[in-house]
Amino acid sequence: MQPDLYPEYAVPIGAAVSEGPCPFLSWLELACWDRTVTPHLFIAHYPDDYRGERLNRLVKCFLWIRHAAGDHPIRVSSAYRTFAYNDLVGGAEWSQHVFGRALDLVPPDGLALRAFYDICRAAAEVTAIRGLGYYDAAGFVHIDTRPRVDLVTWTGDRPKPEAIRV
Ligand SMILES: [Zn+2]
Repeated sequence: MQPDLYPEYAVPIGAAVSEGPCPFLSWLELACWDRTVTPHLFIAHYPDDYRGERLNRLVKCFLWIRHAAGDHPIRVSSAYRTFAYNDLVGGAEWSQHVFGRALDLVPPDGLALRAFYDICRAAAEVTAIRGLGYYDAAGFVHIDTRPRVDLVTWTGDRPKPEAIRV
């Protein structure tokens, strides 16, 4: 959920907020809250085609991190993105978000971002995480399961999650 961005849609009508691929990750958190289709908010759900091994891998990574971070709630600030929405928020052209392989994660309350990043880095040693971005100013860590052998890491300077270009 992204209540900071879309306060009026914090609890979408008719949505089963708790349903998802695992008890700690809902379909709404995985969906793209697309603002490119105006005037109505368009929620593009995590594609059916990706709901197999690809999603399982991502969920396993998420659960490893969640457990290592103390089993506290972790906010997902971005998951699946449509190409149009990815472009709107200034994502990389071939962002793993559009392929359903990426999550931007905000650490649980009381855990510093650096410490949370270190947990995600440790997760990359034992899970399918192959992309790891540290977004200090925005306060989140990007993880993805891109198909490659070696881990790629970077530091992002995005000022806040999902920065909308104007
Ligand atoms: Zn990301």
